[in-house]
Amino acid sequence: MDDAIFVAGTWRRGRGAPVETRDPATGRVIGRFHGASVEDVDEAVRAGRRAVDESGWRDALPHERARVLHAIGERIAAAADEISAVQTADTGKTRAETRALALSAAGTFRYTAAALETMEEAVTPSRGPYLTMTAHEPYGVVGAITPWNSPIASDAQKAAPALAAGNAVVLKPPLWAPCVSLLLARLCAEAGLPKGLLSVLPGPGTPVGDAVVRHPLVGKVSFTGGTGTGRAIGRAAAEKIMPVTLELGGKSPTIVFPDADAEQALAGVLFGIFSSSGQSCIAGSRVFVHESVFDGFVRRLVERAEALRVGPGTDPRTQVAPLVTHEHRDRVAAMVDAAVRDGATVLCGGAVPDDPGLKDGAYYLPTVLGGVANDAAICREEVFGPVAVVLPFAGEDDLVRQANDTDYGLACGIWTADYRRAWRVARRIDAGTVWVNTYKQFSISTPFSGHKASGLGTEKGREGIKSYMRQKSVYWGMDEAPLPWAAG
Ligand code: NAD
Repeated sequence: MDDAIFVAGTWRRGRGAPVETRDPATGRVIGRFHGASVEDVDEAVRAGRRAVDESGWRDALPHERARVLHAIGERIAAAADEISAVQTADTGKTRAETRALALSAAGTFRYTAAALETMEEAVTPSRGPYLTMTAHEPYGVVGAITPWNSPIASDAQKAAPALAAGNAVVLKPPLWAPCVSLLLARLCAEAGLPKGLLSVLPGPGTPVGDAVVRHPLVGKVSFTGGTGTGRAIGRAAAEKIMPVTLELGGKSPTIVFPDADAEQALAGVLFGIFSSSGQSCIAGSRVFVHESVFDGFVRRLVERAEALRVGPGTDPRTQVAPLVTHEHRDRVAAMVDAAVRDGATVLCGGAVPDDPGLKDGAYYLPTVLGGVANDAAICREEVFGPVAVVLPFAGEDDLVRQANDTDYGLACGIWTADYRRAWRVARRIDAGTVWVNTYKQFSISTPFSGHKASGLGTEKGREGIKSYMRQKSVYWGMDEAPLPWAAG
C-alpha cells in the first residue's frame, strides 16, 4: 500500500502520525502509511465545502447525482473480489463475509441512487392566503466516522445518502482497518464523483475524528462505533448545536421458546453470536432459553459451537476467523477470565485454540458461558467477541424483565412457532430491530436504529437521505391585498 491518503480529491502523504496495519491471521504488517493530521481535516473540510458549490453538486438535479451514485455502486460490485481480499487481510474476516460486505456496499449506493430519484417535497395545508411548502437542503459537509468491524458497508451506509443529499463527505475510517476505505475513495473518484466531495482521512479517534466533529464547517456527523465514543461525540456536538446520528453498541437477547423449531433456533443462535467471530454490534450475546428446554438446548448448542471450524479468513471452510487484532483478542480473553472469577462456568471455549497452525493469529475459540445471572458484568458489557452467555427464563414477564434489564437496545431474536407470542414479545422488548425465526438479516430499504444506549437517529431506508438534509419551510403569499396591519 502506498504512503498516501485521500485529501480533498488528491492522493498525498498524510501529515499525521504513522499508521501500521496488520493481518490478524498471521500478525504480519501489511501496510504502513502516514495518517491524517488536524490540518489535513481542516483542508479536507474547507475543500469539501467549496466543492459542494463549485462542482454544482449541491444544485445538481436528483437524477444527475443519482447517475454518479449508481456508477459508484457498479464500480464497487466490479471490484468485489479486490475489496474482499483487502478487507480480509485488514480485519481477518472470512472471504465470504467480506465479499458480502462489498456487495452490500454496492447495493447501498444503487438503492440510494434509486431512492434519490423518488424523493418528494410536501405542499402543506395552509392556514391563510398563502401557499406553504417544505424544502430539504444539504448541510454542506458531513463527517462520517466508522468502526473496524465492517468498514466498507458502514462507509457506504453513510457516504451514499450524505452524497445523495448534496453534501461533501469527510470520512474518518477506523485505525485498525483503514485500507478498504481508501480503496472506496479510489472507486468513487474513478466513477466520476467530483473532486473534493470525498476525503478519506485515516488516523486515531483523537485527534483526527475529534477534529472532524468539532470543525465549524461540518454540519452533521454520522457515527458508528462504541457507546463511550458516541457519548463523547454527542457532547462535542451539543457544544456546536449540531445534529448527530449515533449507531452504537449492543448486548442483544436471543430468545428460545419451548415450541421453537430446535434445528432452526440452534442454527440461528450460533450464527447470531459466532458469525463475524462475534464482532458485530447486533451479536446475539445473551441467549435466553426457556427453563423447560434449557438443559437439552444448551447441550446441543455447546456441541455445535465446539464443532465450528476456526481458521484463517482466506480458507473457504472457516466459520470463525481471527479477531481484528491481538490486542482485541486479549481484551476478549480478559473479559471471559473475569467472568470465570465472578462465578461463570465455561461450557466450551474460553481459550485460544491449541492448533499450532493458528498460534500466530488473533484467534479465540467460540465460547459459551453459563452459571451467571443477567446482572453479572459479562451479561452487561459488550464483549465484541465470540462469547455467548446462556440464561434460563420462566415465563414471558420474567423474560421481558431480564431481556430489557440492560443499558442497550439494539436488536433481539425470537424463536417460537407461536406468531401471537412472537408479536407480543417483539413489541415489549426495547430494541431497534427484532428478528422472528431468523437473525442478522438486513435490507437497505428497512430503517435501522438503536434504542437506549445503542443509538440516536436512524439510518437506511428512503428517509435515510433526508437525515443528511436540513428542512426549510417556504411561504408564498397569494393575496393581492397588503397585510391588514401594514395597510393600517
Ligand atoms: P470505537 O468507538 O472505538 O471507534 C469507532 C470510530 O470512532 C473509529 O473510527 C475511531 O477512530 C473513532 N473515534 C474514537 N474516538 C473518537 C473521538 N473522540 N471522536 C471522534 N471519533 C472517534 O468503536 P470500534 O471499536 O471501532 O467499533 C466497535 C464498536 O462499534 C462496538 O461497540 C459496536 O457495537 C459498534 N458498532 C455499532 C454498529 C451499529 O450500527 N449500531 C455497527 C457496527 C459497530
